[in-house]
Amino acid sequence: MKDQQHFRLTAICSSDRRMDILDTRRMLDTPVNTYEVCCTTCGFPNIDKTPDTYFIAKGRDFSGIEVMEADMGNLFVSNRVKKILEILCPDQCEYKRTFIYQTGIPTKWWLAIPNTMVINGEVKKNIKRCTTCNQPMHAHPGTQYKFWLHELAAPADIAKASNWYSMDEDDWKTGWIGRDVFLSVRLISLLKIISAKGFEKLSLGERKYKSLTKAEKDWVEQSIVKIGNLKDNVKFEVTSDKLDKFKHHFSVTNMPEAIIAFEKKFKVSANEITKIICSIKSGTQIDIGFDSPFVIEDVKNWESTKTKTKLVAFAFDEFGNNLLFSPTDKNCPLYFYDHETMLYDLIQLSILNLINP
Ligand SMILES: [Zn+2]
Repeated sequence: MKDQQHFRLTAICSSDRRMDILDTRRMLDTPVNTYEVCCTTCGFPNIDKTPDTYFIAKGRDFSGIEVMEADMGNLFVSNRVKKILEILCPDQCEYKRTFIYQTGIPTKWWLAIPNTMVINGEVKKNIKRCTTCNQPMHAHPGTQYKFWLHELAAPADIAKASNWYSMDEDDWKTGWIGRDVFLSVRLISLLKIISAKGFEKLSLGERKYKSLTKAEKDWVEQSIVKIGNLKDNVKFEVTSDKLDKFKHHFSVTNMPEAIIAFEKKFKVSANEITKIICSIKSGTQIDIGFDSPFVIEDVKNWESTKTKTKLVAFAFDEFGNNLLFSPTDKNCPLYFYDHETMLYDLIQLSILNLINP
């Protein structure tokens, strides 16, 4: 039997505050998502079962940030990075949509759950364990672990630790638990080249894997070719050209009364895109490839979601489905609401993309 090929992996960390941790007095506090409890004695969660609806509390929209650490050794990735990983590392992760905290509104971030597990540490024998499930009561990586690896070899480019650590040395419940996530050095090199930012690797002094081998370099070169246009991080910008095309497409003439009515009704100030949406004549049709088009209503019939992050429904079809936009986001993402499933779907990162794909 042929040995499975192994790659050199290194643990990564995100320099920013985590999107799925609510308060960060220490590094890991209250998780946004609720995990199933595995053990009723110590309350240890089922750390391998990702909650069905995965919430994030703070969306990050910094330029170039596309890979962030998530809870339990998972990652948040952009749509572009998801597509790249599906090409280069097929079947190495499961991907789940994420939702704005306590809503059914999807965000642009994907949760990538690595399928490959590695062991990067072992809790010392003298650490107290739960008498029922045998999980350690605490597992600080600095003092309560026999060893702790930041670099290792695995048969995949993405892996997460099956073992866990706690920030607290006396009780994992004071704070929360974490697991390391690993990327291959060749994949990290590729992500750096294509400017997919948001994560850091170990400082050079701490690393054994200092530079790429010939085989790793070759893989990076071939992969860049393989991903084609995805190597370019096309940043979305609201330009006057895009606004003009959008206005032209929907034959928009300024309707200042509609803008005032919108601002009064939803208590938000209209940005450049919103002003145009307000000025589209009622009755105008929007085709998003469905059987029947969506028809824009008069501003006075628009409806807003009762969620903290408000979406405004402005176009409806004959079945009761509607199109919504997010008026507080400068790009005005476009959402679809399915009246049967009562689910929201993010269909365009900006409504302008309806005209400028
Ligand atoms: Zn237990």
